[in-house]
Amino acid sequence: HQPHQSCHLILELQAASPQRQPQRRCRFCEKKPQLRRPKTGHAVCRDCFFWAFEAETHDTIVSSRMFSPGERVAIGASGGKDSTVLAYLLKTLNERHNYGLDLRLLAIDEGIAGYRDDSLDALRRTEVSLGLPLTIFTYRDLYGWTMDEVVRAAGRRSNCTFCGVFRRQALDRGAGHLKADKLATGHNADDVAETVVMNLLRGDAARLSRCADGVTHTGGGLPARCKPLKYAYEKEIVLYAYFKRLDYFATECLYAPAAYRGHARALVKDLERARPAALLHIIQAAEQIRFRTDARMPELDTCRLCGYVSSQPVCKACVLLDGLNSGNPRLAVGKSSACSAKQQQQRMLTDAGRNSAQCCGSAGARRGCSGSACAAAADS
Ligand code: SF4
Ligand code: ZN
Repeated sequence: HQPHQSCHLILELQAASPQRQPQRRCRFCEKKPQLRRPKTGHAVCRDCFFWAFEAETHDTIVSSRMFSPGERVAIGASGGKDSTVLAYLLKTLNERHNYGLDLRLLAIDEGIAGYRDDSLDALRRTEVSLGLPLTIFTYRDLYGWTMDEVVRAAGRRSNCTFCGVFRRQALDRGAGHLKADKLATGHNADDVAETVVMNLLRGDAARLSRCADGVTHTGGGLPARCKPLKYAYEKEIVLYAYFKRLDYFATECLYAPAAYRGHARALVKDLERARPAALLHIIQAAEQIRFRTDARMPELDTCRLCGYVSSQPVCKACVLLDGLNSGNPRLAVGKSSACSAKQQQQRMLTDAGRNSAQCCGSAGARRGCSGSACAAAADS
């Protein structure tokens, strides 16, 4: 078949396997080495690789005081390699080190036929094999739109803008529904390094100051987000899943555009090829940047339409939905001037006020619309 991303990584890793430069024994024990760790270059046996990878994840969790005993942790899971390894590791480490966590799987179904439905099948098998309860939220229920419909309405250029904003909010709503204290995501070292580079190139100081943190608090009653795999190399996650024979879905999203994070990703991969430690160094450099604490950060409030945390009167998801529902999806993602963005928000608030005696739509009711009819519907 057409090799997918994981196959490419396995082929690349086999090409760099210990047989090419024979090592007689594993770096840590007497056994024959079976792989060379992409992160450190050490030739190791399979068991010592598992041990090192798990110990490093445990260290990330403990050193950043990620969790407290008794907490409920929602694991943002998609059926892909990162979140499947994350769920397996959290369950293993929770039992091994008595974290005392109540672990749940939380999935978001964006409504992408031929991609997410297949990956959710893999996730359902993980639910059974790990024995962790799974809850699935859908864009269709939360927003009234599937991503397939969004792409049909808005085209292929800005699909990830819609999807990213919707997913972030959907995960928070899902974690809130599960009454989770923390939301753990499968972001790996490659993802974090890419985000650091992107924020640096954009000059986005606010995001740069927190994107490399293991734990981020959004405030507004939302659960803190945690990245237990933030120092785990993507290549090692693939190796771990491969040797542990974990069941995951390995195809890329049908709508993943070539330019998605493309430049930052290419730069980070080039740097890793030249010097594998570069990934870690980018993350560690970002962790050490100190920002003026008196710098003005946007104040958090709640969206007047849906109640979600927002620094604007209307949250980004509501603005995007307004564009979709009014047949102007491109307007909502376009680089509109601050002035016209304000005008759009003002119009939405006025419309909402005019309609507040009626229901704002079924999707609104489910998202906690504050319109009186929706409130009544929610109570009944
Ligand atoms: Fe959504 Fe874009 Fe990711 Fe596909 S690639 S799941 S459209 S964010
Ligand atoms: Zn909103």
